[in-house]
Amino acid sequence: MLPLEVLEKAQSELLCYGESGMSVMEMSHRSKDFEEIIASAEASLRKLMNIPSNYKVLFLQGGASTQFAAVPLNLLSDHKCADYIVSGQFSDKAMKEAKKYGDIAVAASSAGANPSFSTIPKTERSDFRPDADYVHICFNNTIYGTKFNYIPDTGNIPLVADISSCILSEPIDVTKFGLLYAGAQKNVAPAGLTIVIVREDLIGNARPDTPVMLNYKTLADNSSLYNTPPCFCIYMAKLVFDWLLSIGGLEEMKRRNERKASLIYDYLDSQTYYTAPVDRNCRSMMNVVFVTGNQELDKKFIAEAAAEGLKSLAGHRSIGGMRASIYNAMPYEGVEKLVAFMKKFALENPKL
Ligand code: PMP
Repeated sequence: MLPLEVLEKAQSELLCYGESGMSVMEMSHRSKDFEEIIASAEASLRKLMNIPSNYKVLFLQGGASTQFAAVPLNLLSDHKCADYIVSGQFSDKAMKEAKKYGDIAVAASSAGANPSFSTIPKTERSDFRPDADYVHICFNNTIYGTKFNYIPDTGNIPLVADISSCILSEPIDVTKFGLLYAGAQKNVAPAGLTIVIVREDLIGNARPDTPVMLNYKTLADNSSLYNTPPCFCIYMAKLVFDWLLSIGGLEEMKRRNERKASLIYDYLDSQTYYTAPVDRNCRSMMNVVFVTGNQELDKKFIAEAAAEGLKSLAGHRSIGGMRASIYNAMPYEGVEKLVAFMKKFALENPKL
């Protein structure tokens, strides 16, 4: 979801942005209006996330999946080795992509948990190779509904995090990371924009055969305007950043997200009809996974919920069950409606 106020603002400016006489969709990325939009988007994001001046903010295309390759291409500079914590499907994909470019080790994994990936592995500094060029994690595991409840201590080794499904959901200490990246389509903008926040000293060491469009130096030197960026998505992102600032920033967003997530988790903990198959200590605030324990009932739940306007509740195709993705723009009332439906469904469909 996108915040209603943001959609309304975009609607009001859809045909004509300011005095420009055109839609943002029709603008040149070299125009003064668009340069102001991208500069203002960056300034608002810096303010929201408290991004220090020695970090570059890049607005790119290609999705988070392209960063699975861009990260090793740019960061495997000294020892050509990196360590990955595998806590779900996306970190596994990232690890496999990186293996094409260097000596990649799995420092820790929760694949063997029961159910698989239902927790976040614990790590200590000694789990990481001292000569690793970076350590990679996926902070919130969209499919499994888990989130890191700690920031791994990697000492001097830069920590890289995929924050696609939790970006801007709560404050995050950027200084603890060498690089953060996110596909914007969950909490920021329509699909098509990828955000990379990278410490300056990690830029400029890419492998010589790195495609120019994946080289952070090209992208940073050109302020994300080396080629045509996803202009409309950047404009939408700017509106979302400004909306977040207007409601009180990430502290307030966190408060709202905790309130929403608690409503479902408290209900799940209070009954036995549904199970939340995730370690309580690592529950995601964005993706709440639950099952009835009976696949036919799960299917019925998803179909009947959709008929009541509660859409997109099917779990990821790889694990089934249900998943409520309650991203930033989902209102509290939406979660209330879901919990009311869950109660009704449990009463109407007793397990034999
Ligand atoms: N990482 C995470 C945590 C995700 O949730 C997703 C998409 N659901 C991806 C990576 C892949 O993102 P994209 O589709 O932008 O490549």
